Amino acid sequence: MKQLAAGANFARFELGDLVVIALRDGYVDLPTDRLRKSDGSAFGDHFPAQVDLVNGKLRLSVNAFLVIDGERHILIDTGASNYWDPTMGLLFAALAEAGVDRAKIRTVAFTHSHEDHVNGLLDLDGAPAFPQLDRIYVPEKEVSLFEAYPGLVQFLPLITPLPWGTCIENRITAVQADGHEVGHTAFEISSAGETLLIWGDIIHVPSIQFAQPEVSWGFDNDQAQARLTRKIMLARATWPNCHVAGAHLEFPGVGTVAKSGNGYFFKPLTLALVR
Ligand SMILES: [Zn+2]
Repeated sequence: MKQLAAGANFARFELGDLVVIALRDGYVDLPTDRLRKSDGSAFGDHFPAQVDLVNGKLRLSVNAFLVIDGERHILIDTGASNYWDPTMGLLFAALAEAGVDRAKIRTVAFTHSHEDHVNGLLDLDGAPAFPQLDRIYVPEKEVSLFEAYPGLVQFLPLITPLPWGTCIENRITAVQADGHEVGHTAFEISSAGETLLIWGDIIHVPSIQFAQPEVSWGFDNDQAQARLTRKIMLARATWPNCHVAGAHLEFPGVGTVAKSGNGYFFKPLTLALVR
């Protein structure tokens, strides 16, 4: 996998004969007590020194990923749009910066149903963001959660429930990755012997959770299951020719994972030198 180009809010990668574009939706700052010890309690006065803070808060990048297979454009997660905080919602500017016409995006697939992933179906004015959208893959176990958003009811006819193990759009396989949410799903994309695991919310705080995967996130629906899934995904990410892409890894959020002591470390993929 190679990074071919980058701007402030996008980074374009080549994966075999596919193109993957990381899109920066923005960031959100959250209180430190969201980070949890392996017993589920907050760190309190013993907050780990290696965790990066911005003005005393945890800054989470919010990313989405566009997979381009010939003419087919499949957007995986859509960012927060106007939900939550104005530090997010850059997705549409990021697409424009990357030269992608929103009308080309006919398929969206979600890792899970939280608002910072699904609300970008609506643009900043609340209108449908993708005029030619005709299919939305929602993990099978997340459909009822998705259906509960009154603002997204217009999209219900486009939903295709997605069971784990299913291959969509020829190249993209939905992989079980539950814990953060009941149907949380990773997407494994393969081309020319290379694999990209678009893993959604496996890691929220990269500065500690790669090295200490047992450290949990307060918004994980089932922290024990999320911890188990994180360990399985990290182990899988060390396989040869595998890259990962994370919704909350520091933008562009694409790189490789290697074993280090009892944990792992993340090596971001940076722009290839063009001569
Ligand atoms: Zn998230």
